[in-house]
Amino acid sequence: MKLDLIQPRHNYAAKEGEGHVYMPTSLFTVGSRLLTAGLDVTFHDENLKPREISADHVGFNLLGAPYIPEVIKLQETIKKESGEKTFLVGGRVISGLNPSQLEKLFGNSTYNGNDDTILTKVFGIDVRELVPSEKTSLIPAYERLEDEVMKEYLSREFSLYVSQGCKFACDFCAAVRTYKDPETGEIVKVKEVYRDIDIIKTDVDYLVRKAKNFGLDQLQLYMSNLDVFQTPTKLLQFAYAMQEVQKNHPGFRIDLRGLATVDSFLHARESLPRSIEELVNAGFHTVGFGIDGWTKDVWKAVKKGHNSEEKCLDAIRSSKQDFRMIPEILMVFGHPAADSEASLSAAYGITQMAIEAYGAIPRPHVSKSFIPGNNGWRSIDHKKAIESILEDTESFQSLDFTALPSSVTHPNPRIRKLATKYFLEMCKLPGNTTQYVKSITPDLGQKEREEVRKFNEGRFDR
Ligand code: SF4
Repeated sequence: MKLDLIQPRHNYAAKEGEGHVYMPTSLFTVGSRLLTAGLDVTFHDENLKPREISADHVGFNLLGAPYIPEVIKLQETIKKESGEKTFLVGGRVISGLNPSQLEKLFGNSTYNGNDDTILTKVFGIDVRELVPSEKTSLIPAYERLEDEVMKEYLSREFSLYVSQGCKFACDFCAAVRTYKDPETGEIVKVKEVYRDIDIIKTDVDYLVRKAKNFGLDQLQLYMSNLDVFQTPTKLLQFAYAMQEVQKNHPGFRIDLRGLATVDSFLHARESLPRSIEELVNAGFHTVGFGIDGWTKDVWKAVKKGHNSEEKCLDAIRSSKQDFRMIPEILMVFGHPAADSEASLSAAYGITQMAIEAYGAIPRPHVSKSFIPGNNGWRSIDHKKAIESILEDTESFQSLDFTALPSSVTHPNPRIRKLATKYFLEMCKLPGNTTQYVKSITPDLGQKEREEVRKFNEGRFDR
């Protein structure tokens, strides 16, 4: 059975020319699993070149809520160009939608491609033929790519699948993490699950060989871990594996970076400092700490109580002074129901201090209390706002964490104004990497939407 898997163009890419090129690792993971199960899979990346559809089954990778309107349009275009298809949609955002929302948005011939039971039914394969993600090598997918495409990916930073899952439960977060079951009220604990280290090593070795054939002398990898230091014993094994790959390729450099909580960093420093040291020796140079606001009350309100002012300051200092890493201040703030002028100003001040004292890199983002998959998406408090977005699907774009606060995401005008002010101020700090975008909301007319689309063009997040 044949399947076309598509990485749609980035939602802020211009209509023509190169889009935002970034290796679609999650698409390659599901693609490799299906290739291993015997399917004939072809990959298309519309950021690089237009798709050529030949299969009856077509799958899309959505990298967040703003892709929802893009994929809805893409489905219609493909139907017009190539006739009726069976569509599959995948990516974390899809798991956040309930079945009726999924059907409302994408129609009844579109399936949830994240669900193994659905995949086995749609493709008539035995569930035992689907290797678990963490035991999957991506080489079957890499081998299906043309050299010119692979070279484009390897010349830029890309995501390396190392682990999935986070034990914490921050309110605004839609990642695979600990959560409260909305039906039973029970807490479902999630643990970080590592991918098989030998498979990671073999895959990275394959990519290094490919890169060398293209005349490249380094790979820049963004680890997929939601919290790099959460499982220090596994992290140490990973660090050694990366060191081994480097040893086998003298003169070739592997650069690594990733996200972390200050809590896990401090625990790792206490219990197994070698995991941090060896990771740095393996090429890890930058750690993105999830600071996500400031003051005890704000963190408590957004269920990020594992942060404290003291711990954040210690981790930022220690990452730089004790381990020679560059700290990034990942600041998801402007929490609609928790922030005040004092806390927003404090978040700004601490970021400024970290830049001056430790050469930190600011990465400001705007908290959105409801996005598919987070707690707010299931809360009755946001029912009306969610309905308005489901009716005006282009407004899913306003849920992007780089989008300015809007009347939909920040209904209180005072908080909206303050969150906008401090977010924009933070975007002006030296070294800032966030390109803020404007929001599309249901109340905008066509002319205003066109202006927003124009403004947002090419403003990709890192
Ligand atoms: S924001 Fe970070 S620490 Fe919090 S649940 Fe999400 S991944 Fe875990």
